[in-house]
Amino acid sequence: MSESRTRPIPARPACDGRAQDDLDALVALLAVNAAGVDRTACFPEENLAALRSAGYLGFLIPRRYGGMGRDLADLVTVAQRLAGACLSTAMIWAMHCQQADVLVRHAGPRLAAELLPRVAAGEVYLASVTTGTVTGGHLLSAADALERGIEEEILLRREAPVVTGGEHADGFLITMRDTAHADGHAVSLVYADRDALTVEATGGWNTLGMRGTASGALKLSGAVPPDQVVGPPGGFREVALDSMIPVGHLAWSACWLGAARSSFSALLRWLSREQRERLSSPLVHERLGRIRLDLELVSGYLGGVRQEVERVRADRSRPDSAEVQIHLNSLKTAASELTYQAVDRMVQLAGLAVGYGTDSPVPLERTLRDLRSAALNYSNDRLWTANGALCLLDRGVTLL
Ligand SMILES: Cc1cc2nc3c(=O)[nH]c(=O)nc-3n(C[C@H](O)[C@H](O)[C@H](O)COP(=O)(O)OP(=O)(O)OC[C@H]3O[C@@H](n4cnc5c(N)ncnc54)[C@H](O)[C@@H]3O)c2cc1C
Repeated sequence: MSESRTRPIPARPACDGRAQDDLDALVALLAVNAAGVDRTACFPEENLAALRSAGYLGFLIPRRYGGMGRDLADLVTVAQRLAGACLSTAMIWAMHCQQADVLVRHAGPRLAAELLPRVAAGEVYLASVTTGTVTGGHLLSAADALERGIEEEILLRREAPVVTGGEHADGFLITMRDTAHADGHAVSLVYADRDALTVEATGGWNTLGMRGTASGALKLSGAVPPDQVVGPPGGFREVALDSMIPVGHLAWSACWLGAARSSFSALLRWLSREQRERLSSPLVHERLGRIRLDLELVSGYLGGVRQEVERVRADRSRPDSAEVQIHLNSLKTAASELTYQAVDRMVQLAGLAVGYGTDSPVPLERTLRDLRSAALNYSNDRLWTANGALCLLDRGVTLL
């Protein structure tokens, strides 16, 4: 879909005119490249280069390190706009920002001083390695263990079955079991520059959707200094609850919403232009109303959870409280299901040629395939069962 047909999400006051122009140009580039990225299942190198040169890899890096110093509200706004053009690229960027937030909040002083200016300058695109061949998607466990070398350096060897942009990344945040004798839940998060690692591609990425994320399998091995453990050794849970989970769920949900919203806008324009005779149909109105409701609910809940995360951060209150966890997990499950449902409804409303066709002027078919990944990208099954257990700890039912 051409971005010129999509009404832009308004800039927040923090955006100056130059920043808005940069964002408009990025969105236009992503929109032009989106179909090719999907068709070829190739990593969107041109899009990443443009994000680098516009300073967008430093989006969440504080200004004192040379970054853009933007906040979570900006993150969800911009993620929506980028995703309205190309969901693969938006998720690549969103996951990079998630890793950047982890480093800002938890890297030790030497690592922060050396690495954050490089991220801000666009030199370091960050990939995430949390999924394991043994542990699957379970975030808070790891099987591959760290070893300590004779000069105190940390040695790592990691099988990584799914790494978005792994072959293009300049740095990796990797979960590892803290020692060979440690319990699988004693997980350490380690930062490694690509130059410190041998990176071997062990599996490709040829999927139904999200084809441009190039999330193939890697085998990583190398050595890093001991102060490149991010957060407490064996204490990744703290980092995950404070940063990786909240920023991940906010940013992913924003991406999915942006993709569905942009498709809806394109569909409404197509209906108004090409299907005028259907515009008075009560059936069409009912279907439009239901799609709109799905998007309204995700948007409202996204805003509410974002404010709650900001409050937790401002008050330094506990990010691991049952209700905060329930709200974060509910956001991810609701956004993944409702945005997919909304686009599925759009396919039905548009009909065979425009709804289901690959050459349609409204790319619903691609968006539907892309959004089918949302419930898998950190399995909703894990979040439903986690939320059920957490409900038993919040008997007062603290709703958002
Ligand atoms: C587009 C995309 C990008 C990704 N990028 C990355 C990345 O950059 N880095 C990374 O590390 N990972 C990445 N992942 C992987 C992701 O984080 C998850 O680990 C992965 O999608 C989970 O795979 P799975 O469906 O096999 O589920 P898993 O969580 O591995 O679970 C395995 C199976 O167990 C089932 N299950 C779960 N809970 C229960 C239960 N309570 N009872 C019974 N069965 C259960 C699940 O339904 C599933 O079928 C990405 C995934 C996608 C789709």
